[in-house]
Amino acid sequence: MSPTPDLSAVLHHIDAELPQELDRLMALLRIPSISTDPAHARDCDAAADWLVAELASLGATAAKHPTPGHPMVVGHLPGDGPRMLFYGHYDVQPVDPLDLWDRPPFEPELQDTPKGQVIRGRGACDDKGQLMTFIAACRAWLAHHETLPMEVVFFFEGEEESGSPSLIPFLEGNKDLLKADLALICDTGLFDDRAPSIITSLRGLAGIEITLTGADRDLHSGGFGGPAANPIRILSRILAGLHDETGRVTLPGFYEGVPEVPAEQLASWEALGFDAAGFLGEVDLSELAGEDGFSALEMLWSRPTCEINGITGGYTGAGFKTVLPSQASAKISFRLVGQQDPQAILDALRSYVEAALPADVTVAFTNHGAGPASHMNTTHPAFELAREALTEEWETPAAFTGAGGSIPVAGYFQTILGIDSLLAGFGKSDDGLHSPNEKYDVESFRKGTRSWARFLGKVAG
Ligand SMILES: [Zn+2]
Repeated sequence: MSPTPDLSAVLHHIDAELPQELDRLMALLRIPSISTDPAHARDCDAAADWLVAELASLGATAAKHPTPGHPMVVGHLPGDGPRMLFYGHYDVQPVDPLDLWDRPPFEPELQDTPKGQVIRGRGACDDKGQLMTFIAACRAWLAHHETLPMEVVFFFEGEEESGSPSLIPFLEGNKDLLKADLALICDTGLFDDRAPSIITSLRGLAGIEITLTGADRDLHSGGFGGPAANPIRILSRILAGLHDETGRVTLPGFYEGVPEVPAEQLASWEALGFDAAGFLGEVDLSELAGEDGFSALEMLWSRPTCEINGITGGYTGAGFKTVLPSQASAKISFRLVGQQDPQAILDALRSYVEAALPADVTVAFTNHGAGPASHMNTTHPAFELAREALTEEWETPAAFTGAGGSIPVAGYFQTILGIDSLLAGFGKSDDGLHSPNEKYDVESFRKGTRSWARFLGKVAG
């Protein structure tokens, strides 16, 4: 399919202006907007100001909105067509350990690597580089057209990397300001580092800690071993009972609301040619460990899990101590799919643990959050247009995929604003998000920008 004359001018514009756009991104990357560190509150504010000015340069009306934490940036750019909410975040992760960085994290630079040119610096990919792809595409479009083919509400958060404490109240208090037909989120990656992907389902997450207490103090195993209950032994039995020998979770009702994946969707996942052996080989594993009868992608995208994330109890220092501990605890998390009810699952876990305790052992529970899975309704025409746009730009079929992790903002957009999200991003697995030496491929930035421009072209019709 050959692009319309107007679109090809926009695409040429993007290529020709790439150095200038990279300069803009570098300016944003120089602001150390680490949201979790109070010492960087001013920098977060400066990044928000920078974005307000950037949006203004596009012709948008934009403002910084204070919150009890870091400000939100909301901009509005009129256009002819549907109203889209574009989300990104301007805050970044802390940089430690600093000595593992090859250069100062907030002095970004372009580097030539064997795999091509990269822009190196904290936030290069997550999420400053990614959010700038959309801004750059809008700028290029407007250089060749009067208006955008859609109305855009830009929404940039400054607390994504620190748990988004202000997000829910801000969404609830600003429904009118943020209302849109659909959200666009650019904070994800390519599938297998090569195929453009639109994530349409995200697993939910629920976490709980269980602490068992037996005797009122640690005991000597010579003096009490035998008569006294050992909480570690009881905890082990409880944890071992969470799965059966086929890998299924045994909690009653756990699979209620887990949908069958439609055959057509399974076929499209199959067509991605995912290399499960390579995926496991990367981390020195060789054998799928989940439920029998499912592929690795099904396990990641469409099946729920129960995982034990940490165990404590007894003597864990150097040497040896023959102790019967008073307490033992475990942190347990669930990745959830479909309509699984996080609260019902935590309740089932509590009942299971309580029923398994002998008379002398008590349990205390600490909840660590519970959010359901989210599924996007892909009938909004933008999904198909985005799939076409991405496929053309990357010359690789774009796929609707799942995500094993959670992107909470997409769920809040559904529950609070009542809109689905189109999640498309251009990160790669070696970008080092949250790690030293974070980078974004210049080619990802260029093609990402061109992808959004092609999407605008599709929306324009
Ligand atoms: Zn991010």
